[in-house]
This record gives sequence, C-alpha cells and structure tokens, in this order.
Amino acid sequence: LTQRLQDTMAKLRRKPKVTEADLKETMRDIRLALLEADVNFKVVKDFVKQVRTRAAGADVLKGLNPAQQIVKIVNEELTKMMGEEAVALNKSDKIPTIIMMAGLQGAGKTTTAGKLALKLKNEQNARPMFIAADIYRPAAIDQLEQVAQSIEVPVFQLGTDVDPVEIVRQGLQQARDQHNDYVIIDTAGRLQIDEKLMDELVQIKTLASPDEILLVVDAMTGQNAVETAEGFNEKLDITGVVLTKLDGDTRGGAALSIRAVTGKPIKFVGQGEKMDDLDVFHPDRMASRILGMGDMLTLIEKAQKDFDEEQAQKTVEKMRENSFDFNDFLDQMAQMQKMGSMEDIMKMIPGMANNPALKNANIDPKDMEHLKAIVYSMTPAERENPDLLNPSRRRRLAAGSGRPIVEVNRMIKQFNQMKKMMKQVSNGNMSGLENMMGG
Ligand code: GDP
Ligand code: MG
Repeated sequence: LTQRLQDTMAKLRRKPKVTEADLKETMRDIRLALLEADVNFKVVKDFVKQVRTRAAGADVLKGLNPAQQIVKIVNEELTKMMGEEAVALNKSDKIPTIIMMAGLQGAGKTTTAGKLALKLKNEQNARPMFIAADIYRPAAIDQLEQVAQSIEVPVFQLGTDVDPVEIVRQGLQQARDQHNDYVIIDTAGRLQIDEKLMDELVQIKTLASPDEILLVVDAMTGQNAVETAEGFNEKLDITGVVLTKLDGDTRGGAALSIRAVTGKPIKFVGQGEKMDDLDVFHPDRMASRILGMGDMLTLIEKAQKDFDEEQAQKTVEKMRENSFDFNDFLDQMAQMQKMGSMEDIMKMIPGMANNPALKNANIDPKDMEHLKAIVYSMTPAERENPDLLNPSRRRRLAAGSGRPIVEVNRMIKQFNQMKKMMKQVSNGNMSGLENMMGG
C-alpha cells in the first residue's frame, strides 16, 4: 500500500463504523494507489465505482474490521477484473500449432519466443520450430539463432532479402514436412505502431491463421502499454498477452489495464532475461502486487480462518475494563496457538512492527503447555484475581503443576507485562490489537 492509503486505512481501523465520508476518502486513496501503479485512468474510474458499491453494501465479516473488509473487496475485485483464473495457451487439433509473436521493438518478442519454446519442450516434450520473420534489424536473425541454439530448437530463415510473408509460407511448409508440433513466428516490431508494420502483420496472420497471436508488452512502459495493446488488438484481434520485464520495479498496473481495455487474457509474465524466466499469469498474485499489500492480506486470511470473533470481542472488552485475568490469558494462548506467535501477528499490523512492547509479548509456543498447567493449578478465585498470588500460593502452584517456582514467577511476570501491553495498545493512538480483534 502506498503511504497515503496506509494512513487512511489506519484511521479507518480505529472507527467502529465507516461513514459515507470515510468511504469516499478511502476510495480516493485507492484510486491514487492504482494510478501510481500505472493503471489506466478510465479503468480506475470504473473499478472504484464497482468497489464502492460493494463496500457500501458489504455485510460485516466476522473477524474483519471495516478497513480490512475494504482492502479485501479491492483485492477480490482486482483479481476478478484480471480474469480470476490463469488461461492456457491455445493448442490446435492437428500439428503444427502456430504461435505468432507481435509487439513493439524491444518488448521482448524474441526472448519470449525462446522462453515459450523451452517451456513447451520441458512440459509437453514438444518439438517446436522458429520462423525468423524480422528482416529489418540486421542483428534480429542472429539473436533468434542464438536463443534457439541455447535451447536446441531449429530456426527457419531466408536472410533479410526475402519478404516476411514468403518466409512464413516456406517456413510453415518445412514445419509440416518435418512434423514439428509447434511453430513460433518471430516478427518485426517498430518503436511505435505504424501502418506498414500492421499491414505486414495482418498479411502474416492471413497466411498462417495462427492458433495463438501473443502480444508481447513491456510492463515498464506503464500507461503506454494500454495504447499499444489497444492498437495491436484492433488490427490483429490478438488471442493473448505476455507481460514482460515484471522483474523490474514496475507495479504491474498495466496488466489490469490491458485486460480491461482489450478483454484479452494475459497468459504469461516475463520475470527476467534468462530462458526459464517465464511464468503463467496468476490474477490473484498480480492483484496483491498492484496494491503492494502482501502482509495485509496474509493477516486478513489468518483472521478469517482462525479468529473467534466473540472471544476476541470479549478480550477487547476485558482489556478496556482492565479486568484481563488468567482465564482470558488461557483463551488468549489458545488463540495464539492457532494463529502463530503474538509477535508475528502484531508485526503485521501497520505501525506495530517496531513497538517495544512486542518484546515482552512473546511466549515460546513450547512453553505454552507448561503455562497452561500452571494456570490449571489455580483456584477460580486466583484466576480471576491474580493479585491473590502471594509467595505461598505460588509455591502451591509450582507443586500442583510440577513446574519449578522460577517458572511460576516468570509466568506471572509475563502475564502482568502482557496485561500492561494490552492496556497500552488498547488505549494508545494505534489501537492495533483491538483492530485485529475486530473492535
Ligand atoms: P523484441 O525486439 O521484441 O524481440 O525484444 P527482445 O526479445 O530482443 O528483448 C529486448 C530486451 O529485453 C532484451 O535485452 C531482453 O533480454 C530483454 N527482456 C525481454 N524480456 C525480459 C524480461 O522479462 N525481463 C527482463 N529483465 N528483460 C527482458
Ligand atoms: Mg526481436
């Protein structure tokens, strides 16, 4: 999350109810976060409208505070917009399956052609062949030859003096003769979309009738990626998109825009220059990347899965009244055992990571059972009123639980520290624990 969005969320988290104005402010910040991630402004507008409607009508989810619910809705809607599921490469009934690469110069067509061929070889034991149809840059054919050699895939080429459409015609003939199951056509690009390039690509498409026309788009180009995708799709009616250079520091907002504007699925993402740096596109992971909220989502998932809302509410109440006792301590430990260490949980709350109170909050899970044994040795009165625990009572607890007296003393000290910390957290400005507990 951007800092601004994080601040708004923190503010929201402190409120038991979200007002119309709160929602408006949050939506504005989500809008800015998306624009910062290079999502197209028209796409953002539609998106925010959709989230707003859902957020306004949202049921109160167990274990989640309003801010967390909004983040969750945003993430779900982003995922939905990008197609929910990964979409596989098209495959022809009869060989060869023909894949045509398209895209601007430098987008990564040749590199991606190589990565794809390697993937097909590794996963399907395929026998792909390349056709070198980029005759405009002198080094283009050499580059394809080099890529092809490194992954042991044959290249059909006729140099730079033959018309690309003719090269493709002869290349396809050879692939049929040699029973290659995939043909990947590496085409030329330009710095910008121009008519001559498009005409050539349309001619190649008409001749080859590819099963897959993969538009290769450089994720680093941000907003321009959308125009590029629109332009190519209009002329070529592409079947899928590969988003390259996601290993850079781009937020990946182009993915959302391209899908929304062209309606075509992103099938793969390029994450590096090496031949095995090609991954199937996962909408949910991209959604998290766009919002940059990995930790937040983990927290939400944990909260949904494991947290007992009523129990949590009770604890928050107790904390408020400062009546937290050993019975609560037991409940608390049971919750923690389900969710992981106190420190891990608290660290996921924005603003809590460096809170010194965390140091004393942690209880080694190994010790939990011993601590429980000690608490079970207490009388009901002692559990409710820890102040009763004088030295002789402590000795009795040690004997009853079979634990050394130092451990009993340490536990009581820890309990008091925990109580203090909870009070601090629930009274403080950053009421992290309380938020977590759905307060
Ligand atoms: P083409 O003109 O569309 O064929 O683009 P190229 O395949 O020649 O790629 C242009 C440059 O981008 C090369 O230096 C590639 O190594 C680089 N490249 C391609 N895909 C990726 C990627 O996913 N990540 C990174 N970091 N570089 C890439
Ligand atoms: Mg190339």
